Amino acid sequence: MEESKKFLLQEKDIPQAWYNVMAEMPNKPRPMLNPATKQPLTAEDLYPLFSEEASKQEMNMKDAWIEIPEEVREMYKIWRPTPLVRARGLEKALDTPAHIYFKNESVSPVGSHKLNSAVPQAYYCKKQGVTNITTETGAGQWGAALSLAAKHFGLALAVYMVKVSYHQKPYRRSIMETYGAEVIASPSMSTKAGRKIITDNPSYQGSLGTAISEAVELAMSTPNCKYALGSVLNHVALHQSVIGLEAEKQMAMAGEYPDIVIGCFGGGSNFSGISYPFLRHNFTGERNTRFIAAEPESCPKLTRGVFQYDFGDEAGYTPLIPMLTLGHNFAPANIHAGGLRYHGAGSVVSQLIEDNLIEAVDIAQLETFAAATLFAQSEGIIPAPESSHAIAAAIREAEKAKEAGESKVILFNLSGHGLIDMTAYDQYHAGDLVNYQVSDEQVLANTKDLEKII
Ligand SMILES: *Cc1c(COP(=O)(O)O)cnc(C)c1O
Repeated sequence: MEESKKFLLQEKDIPQAWYNVMAEMPNKPRPMLNPATKQPLTAEDLYPLFSEEASKQEMNMKDAWIEIPEEVREMYKIWRPTPLVRARGLEKALDTPAHIYFKNESVSPVGSHKLNSAVPQAYYCKKQGVTNITTETGAGQWGAALSLAAKHFGLALAVYMVKVSYHQKPYRRSIMETYGAEVIASPSMSTKAGRKIITDNPSYQGSLGTAISEAVELAMSTPNCKYALGSVLNHVALHQSVIGLEAEKQMAMAGEYPDIVIGCFGGGSNFSGISYPFLRHNFTGERNTRFIAAEPESCPKLTRGVFQYDFGDEAGYTPLIPMLTLGHNFAPANIHAGGLRYHGAGSVVSQLIEDNLIEAVDIAQLETFAAATLFAQSEGIIPAPESSHAIAAAIREAEKAKEAGESKVILFNLSGHGLIDMTAYDQYHAGDLVNYQVSDEQVLANTKDLEKII
């Protein structure tokens, strides 16, 4: 009998509404706080920074479904719906009774899931008459996505790119420039935050936290300019729910329902996107799916961070966010999964972990590259180093199923492809990659000065 490998939807099946988990989760996330007054933030407090619509979505704990604007669905049609694939090659390579599925978000024009949120964020800015937007990018995936979305809606974009990546990953910079964005190596002399850092430490190669500070400062000090963030925040997770909503329909086409759902974890946007549409059936008791967030061993905020209020950036410009955090000054090792090198998790994910509704695992760099290589050889797609954390976690679960002789249904999100990350693979093949552990002392030293608000 012929067996299906791909489960494909039509353009008309692109969801009409995003799923907002905050409306249905049993315990709401704690509020974000104004750092000066320690009072809960309102949507209006965010208007100077983000578009009004994104600010409202950020605070919306009431509506489970939020309509996707027609202009956004139109642009989604460039690459959505994305395929759901049964990883039969990987199953065979592992000789596992588990059924492994992956949602392939690498087919977007920029090669990752990030475009799912870049499009609505740019659209909402355009709709309210904003002319300029700004953001930060680490390895360049978010910057690339926002560059394309900004161009589509006729906005000028300035991207602060972490200096080390600006020099080491010139192709991502040229992708952004090809889409028409201006890319600035961060720290830069164009902001107060950047000038201070360069003055204190002229050779500093930058970090995501620093780049966020620069972009936020530019947005706050420039008329008609807004800031956009690619992860961590609630409205970003909301937009990413298209991943799981499509996957839910596609799993039904395959005649299965996942026992385990897995996503890699940086700030939480792709993990939230694949998970929450399935998690909602756990809330009602209809299902009992396990959800696993896979983070790097070298940046273990979910498995070893503290649950406390912390800043989203290094300079402390952002609101205080209730998060599992390693401290906003945490400097993660220079692993190749650049998109996972962030010190904290969003408020919703942190609450769901606190309530034991989702789980987390940490994975060493070498295990992720071994998993990536097996996946490339058995499924044909070279995964992003970030996504390889999800693959490694899926392989662990498939091996457990084999030992137990159980046929589990495993679904993971392939957040992006790795075709612009081949330097990392080169180093892996040459035996030059290593694992990085974080000591308890490091975690303690980085988090001991956080205010004890929780
Ligand atoms: C940015 C990125 C991630 C990590 O970000 P999340 O918000 O945690 O999803 C993961 N995979 C890829 C391919 C990315 O570009």
